[in-house]
Amino acid sequence: MLTSCNPNQKEMNPLLAEFDTPFGVPPFDLIKYEHYMPAFKKAMEVQNEEIDAIVSNPEAASFENTIAALDYSGDLYNKVSNIFYNIKSANTSDEMQEIAKELVPIISEHKSNISLNPQLFERIKTVYLGRDSLDLDQEQAMLLEKTYKRFVRSGADLSEEDKANMRKIDEQLSMLSLQFGDNLLEETNNYILLIENEEDLEGLPEGLISGAAEAAEEAGQAGKWVFTLQKPSWIPFLTYCENRELREEIYKAMYTRANRGNEFDNKDIIELIIKLRTERAQLLGYKSHADYVLEERMAKTPENVNNLLMKLWVPAIRIAREEAAMMQKMIDAEGGDFKLASWDWWYYAEKIRQEKYALDDEELREYFSLEDVTAGVFMVINKLYGITFERRDDLPVYHEDVIAYEVKNADGSHLGVQYMDFYPRASKKSGAWSTSYRRQHVRDGENVSTIGSIVCNFSKPSGDKPALISFDEAETFFHEMGHALHGQFSECTYPGISGSSVPRDFVELPSQIMENWGENRGVLKEYAKHYKTGEAIPDELLDKMEASSKFNMGFTTTEYLAASFLDMFYHTITSVKDIDVNAFEAEAMNSIGLIDEIIPRYKSTYFSHIFSGGYSAGYYSYIWSEVLDKDAFNAFVETGDIFNQDVASSFRYNILAKGGSLEPMEMYLNFRGKEPDVNALLKARGLN
Ligand SMILES: [Zn+2]
Repeated sequence: MLTSCNPNQKEMNPLLAEFDTPFGVPPFDLIKYEHYMPAFKKAMEVQNEEIDAIVSNPEAASFENTIAALDYSGDLYNKVSNIFYNIKSANTSDEMQEIAKELVPIISEHKSNISLNPQLFERIKTVYLGRDSLDLDQEQAMLLEKTYKRFVRSGADLSEEDKANMRKIDEQLSMLSLQFGDNLLEETNNYILLIENEEDLEGLPEGLISGAAEAAEEAGQAGKWVFTLQKPSWIPFLTYCENRELREEIYKAMYTRANRGNEFDNKDIIELIIKLRTERAQLLGYKSHADYVLEERMAKTPENVNNLLMKLWVPAIRIAREEAAMMQKMIDAEGGDFKLASWDWWYYAEKIRQEKYALDDEELREYFSLEDVTAGVFMVINKLYGITFERRDDLPVYHEDVIAYEVKNADGSHLGVQYMDFYPRASKKSGAWSTSYRRQHVRDGENVSTIGSIVCNFSKPSGDKPALISFDEAETFFHEMGHALHGQFSECTYPGISGSSVPRDFVELPSQIMENWGENRGVLKEYAKHYKTGEAIPDELLDKMEASSKFNMGFTTTEYLAASFLDMFYHTITSVKDIDVNAFEAEAMNSIGLIDEIIPRYKSTYFSHIFSGGYSAGYYSYIWSEVLDKDAFNAFVETGDIFNQDVASSFRYNILAKGGSLEPMEMYLNFRGKEPDVNALLKARGLN
């Protein structure tokens, strides 16, 4: 690979050369589209050679020559693939999309060649079965366990016949997921609410109306207004439209999607997906699909998930009933002669919100210039962990908006590199995320540091104003930096286990906990300053922010929990049986006591997280992580100092530094001294 003496050095593929840059960051300025495909192919070749060397090693399988060797393999592959996919998400182009398409079958074959290699699995199994006589440290034991389980869980230990069955099931499942998503898309796009009379628009904000007029024009209905089943259309419509019948119409259209008995109905697909998932889990020796999924998560068992959901459900539904009663009172006072229905909730909640806590988002924005928020994020991190961020304009970047920082330890030594890419552009995916170009690990005795990146879509500077972001965006910044710290503080040996390689229901703890500082009154007073006057955010605004953060939480929590329960009901089925989807859902919701005025955030036929995304038996994870982050932050609060150095150091070394080298609950206990408690979350949501 090293070709420093190659006379054609200028023709070299920079992805395949040693990176001659500070800290070995990618030479973004040298990489061209035509470099990717040959680099991928070469990198796969190299990894195949590495795997061959493991398999054909004449020595008996050992932790070092098999488990560690496998984990260290694919270094070049990861380097190339991280660069390609990170840039594809943050700064894509037609060329990259084309390459990505070409890569799909090639990469899937490459990965299967490794995960289905029977000799490789034999060696892994040999090491695993002899593990008690090996003298492994904690991290090694965990890597061994994870490697073995990964192969077994994908069917490596099954008989040839069962392997064939499983492949068939997997093929069917991926087809069905795709079909579920396609049907939902059709059903979402096939409906429009066409409004012809201007008086039907009463209550709607100007921006929404003009958007609806544009949509109508595009649909060949100039002079009318079109609303759709996309969230940015139906949610504000439901929130502001004064015409109750129209609210009912669009809401029913939304929640009967793919449940209308037409060609795009998802009910049979759901039934088949659940049957196949149950069958698959049982083929691998698990009681249910949820048992299969949760074994790898912090939650471990369906019982643990259901217990947690129930602890939150009882107070949430109680508060939701109170909220409903408050709205009914308003309806009665207005002389409305009807009972609050699910399509009325958004509308009356908004009326009550405006009455009680009207918060002007635009006014708030003036206290959140991106520059001040950045300084606030760095200040919080510095106060907690002593580290600093030094801007490095000499590092290559993939777009002029990207800023590179060197992260330094308290003693000034190098910790890692962190990119930040804040503004939206057409070439960037929506949302915000944290990723890395290189994970921390130790190779040949040398520490390899993290090269991380956060990518966001924050409001840009406009006119003569600097970038003024919303409070939500400020919280997102704190959140993503929490993920970034998980990578930067990693102190692991093996790349496969370092940084944020932790279960999904644990990975949001490091990120979400940071939001607690971002929204803390004292911290806000320090960083949220008016962009013109520099005056700190006034108490009156802070009061409103606090009050509105708890508003309507009975509803928000209840509709979320109902969907989480529904997910668990489907995936704890333990026998392959016929399912009448509507009856099943109704019974499930009845058994937890959901009230008529609220429906689950996702009903079965459009619950794509669990039927076409990767969240089956996992929709609970969002609130599980929130229980953790609120309880963990409480460890600081309880000392009377949210910057308590002992607690910060314990969080850093017991959780952030450990990557996935310990069971999440063990890490948590090491940090907190006790299991997480739901009370801090209930308090934060005003449900206590
Ligand atoms: Zn996150």
